[in-house]
Amino acid sequence: MPLHNFIGGEWRAAGSRETLPVRDPATLEPLGEVPLSGAADVDAAVAAARAAFPGWRRTPAVERARVLFRLKALLEQAKEELAVSLTREHGKNLAETRNEVQRGIENLEHACGIPTMMMGDTLEDIAPGIDCETVRQPLGVFAVISPYNFPVMIPLWFWPYAVATGNTVVLKPSEQDPLTHQRVVELAAQAGLPRGVLNVVHGARDAVNAILDHPGIHGVSFVGSSRTARMVYARAAAAGKRVQALGGAKNHMIVMPDADPDVVTSAITQSVFGSAGQRCLAGSVVVGVGDAYAPMRERLLDAAASLRLGHGLDQGTDMGPVISAAHRERVERYIEEGAREGARLVMDGRRPAVVQHPLGHWVGPTVFEDVGPDMAIGREEVFGPVMGFTRAATLDEAVALIERNHYGNATSIFTTSGRAAREFRYRAGISMIGVNIGVAAPMAFFPFGGARGSFYGDLKAQGRDAIDFYTDKRVVISRW
Ligand code: NAD
Repeated sequence: MPLHNFIGGEWRAAGSRETLPVRDPATLEPLGEVPLSGAADVDAAVAAARAAFPGWRRTPAVERARVLFRLKALLEQAKEELAVSLTREHGKNLAETRNEVQRGIENLEHACGIPTMMMGDTLEDIAPGIDCETVRQPLGVFAVISPYNFPVMIPLWFWPYAVATGNTVVLKPSEQDPLTHQRVVELAAQAGLPRGVLNVVHGARDAVNAILDHPGIHGVSFVGSSRTARMVYARAAAAGKRVQALGGAKNHMIVMPDADPDVVTSAITQSVFGSAGQRCLAGSVVVGVGDAYAPMRERLLDAAASLRLGHGLDQGTDMGPVISAAHRERVERYIEEGAREGARLVMDGRRPAVVQHPLGHWVGPTVFEDVGPDMAIGREEVFGPVMGFTRAATLDEAVALIERNHYGNATSIFTTSGRAAREFRYRAGISMIGVNIGVAAPMAFFPFGGARGSFYGDLKAQGRDAIDFYTDKRVVISRW
């Protein structure tokens, strides 16, 4: 039976009979069916969210936070169940999905601080006898549209803050792996989130377009590829909405000659191949500066060769499959194109034999040398387990490579020189920067989001930005 939408506190069948299968990407075992909801389903969800808004807004912030506290406790109890379910539908290994659930819970923890975070400012006597204050007020209904690669965590970057600030929400999860967050929503209802405060509409393009055009929605939080992010930003803004649209990435890892080789090897291997490369913070192009190149190349090749592919639930699996056959083919096309454009394919991960699970969407660790910045594999997001090596004579040359790229999500430098690290941080022009860290993932109380072609909007996910995004600062000037 297809998943149900969650509208006004009830699980309801979508209006459309069209569905897509959800399968374990390692075995192709069917796990569920997701309905492709249309405009009428979105309309019903918006109506429920609008109806719930006045009462929820009047609920004191401290009581709204208590619901989130209860949900946090329920998620802690369900952590292992959620991680296993997530591994099944996404493919990444259990250590990775446990981390993801944990990162999601941390956003709830942060959102529980809403009574303090939502406070305004006051100044007496802006003129004699006249006082001024700002009051943060919720706006109404927000939509959250999320991608497949972190289906539990990414919705939790947004909706807990939106509801904590007194708004109501329509969530459109990724159609590729919507099952585990469905469980989170069940737990939210169990925690006492009132009917209509959080609504879920499953689907794909039609549901998204209906959200973007809907006059009853005040703002949209989106995460996905840059192409979709750009479209979402333009279309939702044209309809008068607030928008934050986080897009794709092409992340450079800069290795200086004085870097600690052990740190370089473990951090970059994790960054490039973790989650089979399906992360917006994944390292992609590894830049060896000067003498760093040759030793770094050897060690990273050895580490890549040692990675074990398998089902994410099997002990000892380093890397699971990619999400779908279509995505595997897309990654394979990039590998073909890289070789055609003149990069040297030194490790080819195409169609590896994974004996126990021959049907899975496997791509093994793949490594290119001599990756140029204008080749497709040097320029575009591959979103698979593909590492490209390139050389730079100096840190200046390495920074120039980053500047030449369209994306601006994340980058890392590996060095033991504070001066080089400081120079890099100052000049990289990228939003999330690691220093001897391969995945520079901001925790819940810091903003998450990129620059340039990786981000459309101004206020990012998480941190104080979330409070700014979901509230309007209203100014009251009083004379008595
Ligand atoms: P995607 O753009 O295909 O889909 C994201 C969402 O948009 C989904 O809910 C999908 O249903 C919807 N969608 C897709 N195509 C659409 C269209 N043409 N019209 C309307 N809606 C559409 O992204 P994905 O493949 O699910 O996720 C991977 C991408 O997300 C990668 O590019 C990755 O870098 C990016 N991402 C970015 C961040 C970040 O923080 N910047 C975090 C995670 C993922």
